[in-house]
This record gives sequence, structure tokens and C-alpha cells, in this order.
Amino acid sequence: MKDALIIGQGIAGTLVSFELLQRNWSIDVADHIEPLTASKIASGLYNPLVLKRRRVVWKAHEMINVVEKSYRTIEKLSGENFLHTTPVWESLPDPGTENDWMSLSDNPHFEDFIGVILSPSNDAIKAHKVGEVAKSGKVDVTTMISAWSNYLYSIQSKIDVRIDPEDLVQRGNHWEYKNQLYKNVIWCNGFAEEHPHFGQLPFSPTKGEVLIVNAPTLTLDHILHGNVFIMPLGGHTYKVGATYSWKDLTPTPTLEGKETLLEGWNKLVNAECEIIVHQAGIRPNVKDRKPLIGSSHIHDGVHLFNGLGSRGILMAPWLAQNFADYLEGKAELYPEVNVNRFTA
Ligand SMILES: Cc1cc2nc3c(=O)[nH]c(=O)nc-3n(C[C@H](O)[C@H](O)[C@H](O)COP(=O)(O)OP(=O)(O)OC[C@H]3O[C@@H](n4cnc5c(N)ncnc54)[C@H](O)[C@@H]3O)c2cc1C
Repeated sequence: MKDALIIGQGIAGTLVSFELLQRNWSIDVADHIEPLTASKIASGLYNPLVLKRRRVVWKAHEMINVVEKSYRTIEKLSGENFLHTTPVWESLPDPGTENDWMSLSDNPHFEDFIGVILSPSNDAIKAHKVGEVAKSGKVDVTTMISAWSNYLYSIQSKIDVRIDPEDLVQRGNHWEYKNQLYKNVIWCNGFAEEHPHFGQLPFSPTKGEVLIVNAPTLTLDHILHGNVFIMPLGGHTYKVGATYSWKDLTPTPTLEGKETLLEGWNKLVNAECEIIVHQAGIRPNVKDRKPLIGSSHIHDGVHLFNGLGSRGILMAPWLAQNFADYLEGKAELYPEVNVNRFTA
């Protein structure tokens, strides 16, 4: 008998499996190879501020404190580097935005995250000033998922399969899947119209599009943020993201998305670019913008870790710790994220 079967290995399944292994749980992680999941498309930015609205993310101080430790430990175990702590630069194109930035640094809620104002010595950046977002950075998510998957194989804890809920059979307090018994089943399966054990969940999914471009004349070493962000990927390759759409939830990239991203690019930098890849994915956002974590009322031992929305990289490490404490009976879940706020 094993302690848990984790279904899905995107950002959620990676962080939950990491946290439970740290606590010596015996687990299997099931995932089926899908090239374009939300996590594989994600830009991997973590940022304690909602830059467009000049707001601090819910529990950002607590979350940011565990981000680096969790990802560095996963790097160490898996032998791959994917965490980059170079901070985001917020474009401050005029004296008004510069003043706003300075006044935020006087606000005690923001002060930990509002870094210095710099004058970039890079003619390609259109704004004369940029504000550093302290404690921000990025994770190369595809590298992390594949490195962690290899680590899970090496400890015989990974199975490549799409779990059909019909194959999960309740045996007393336990669950059986293909002759293996588990004490817990943990769904980390991302956005789904209808959940096999939780039914209709209050998702409000958003489609996001990104471009990968080549810009031979541009040399950036920070992520630059304005209407869009421009993220250096190495050489003269950049990721440009991301759009938000609530209407069209097809996984197909659109002309409108491309135009929005290129317009954002042109507002931020003076540089020609050539599009190499254009991708779209669906973020598992929730109606009240908080994750969905907790246990089924109907099926004993069945749990959910989902709804990471647009900020999986920032939220998952801290929430996975709270979730693991909860599973071990050491803590309550935060009511703001407990799935029972919708199902109770
Ligand atoms: C364009 C775009 C840009 C983004 N940029 C960022 C960013 O910069 N920073 C950030 O923090 N977030 C970003 N996000 C959001 C981020 O992608 C999500 O928060 C995160 O990926 C959610 O992870 P997840 O593991 O819950 O879901 P998913 O990534 O959807 O993973 C679910 C996994 O479960 C597997 N699965 C599903 N059903 C089964 C089954 N029955 N059996 C086995 N496996 C199953 C799937 O194959 C998949 O691998 C972005 C999203 C998009 C679309």
C-alpha cells in the first residue's frame, strides 16, 4: 500500500509530490504526455505584485518566503537548474508612472517588493526609467517538469498514464488502481469542465497566448514588463506574453492575440522581431480568483489541489506545504482556498 496517488504532473502535481516526498510519503504520480498543458506553456514568472492594478498578491509575503527554498531543493534533487532570480523590470514610461512607483515604496504593504528605479543603459528600451520588482523571478517550467519527472522515474514513483476514474475502485478506506492500493488520491489535473470526483467546479478559465520571437538587435537581461512582458530566453530569443481572454476557450492561437502581443512589444522596445512560435493555453482560474484545495465530502481519501490560475509558480510551493500539513492533520487549510467554500 502506498500513501498517495497523485494525478497530474503540471506545476501543481510537481510541488505536491515534492512536498509529500520531503515528508517521506510513498507516492505514485500519474501523468500522460500532453505537449501543450497550461504548465508547459506558462512563462514561469513569479511576481508578488499585480502590476497592472498596483496590488500585492494575496499572502505574497508568506509565498515568496518559500519560493526559492522549494525550487532550489527540487533543482538539487533533480540535478537541473531552472530557477532564475533576476528581478522583473517594470517599465516607467513617464513622470506619472515614476511618481506612482515611488509612492508605492512608502506604503508598508508594498515596500518589500518595490525595488529601485533605474535608468537602463539600453537604447532599445523605450522607457527612460524602470522599477525593479524585488523578489520576483522566473522558473523554466518545462525544464522543471521534465527534470522532476525523471527524478520520479528514478525512485519508481512515476507512471505514464491517463487515469480513467472508472479504474479507481474504493476498497474500504483505500483506493485501488490496477492492483495497487493507495490511502489517498490527489487530483492535480488542472482545468477540466467536469471533475470526476468533485463534479462542476467554479472555474472561470482564461485563455492565454504567448509568442516566442527572435530579435537579432535586442539584448535584454531582465524581464521587461509593461502591457506585456518580454522575457529573455537566451541568445536573441524572447518570450512575449501573455493575453487574457474569457470568451474564446479553444486551444488555438488567434490573430487578435498575436496583434495584441506585437503591439505590447512595440510599446516596450525599439527592435524588429520575427515570430518563431505562437502558442495558446487555458489557465485554471476560479470565479473568486483563489485556488481550489481540499477534500471530497462524498469520497473518503479523495483530494484536490487545483485552481492555481495565473500564478501557479508563486502559489504552489507555499500552498503545497499547507496542504501537506492538512493531510497530516497538523493544520487547517486556509478558508480562502478550501474547496468546501463552494461544496459545503
Ligand atoms: C499563456 C499562459 C502563460 C502563463 N504564465 C504564467 C506565469 O508566467 N507564471 C505563473 O505562475 N503561471 C502562469 N500561467 C498559469 C499556469 O500555467 C497555471 O497556474 C499552472 O500551469 C496550473 O498548473 P496545474 O498543474 O494545476 O495544471 P496543468 O498545467 O493543466 O497540469 C495538469 C496535468 O494533469 C494531467 N492530467 C489531467 N488529467 C489527467 C488524468 N486523468 N490522468 C493523468 N494525468 C492527467 C495533464 O496532462 C497535465 O499534465 C500561465 C498560463 C498560460 C496559459
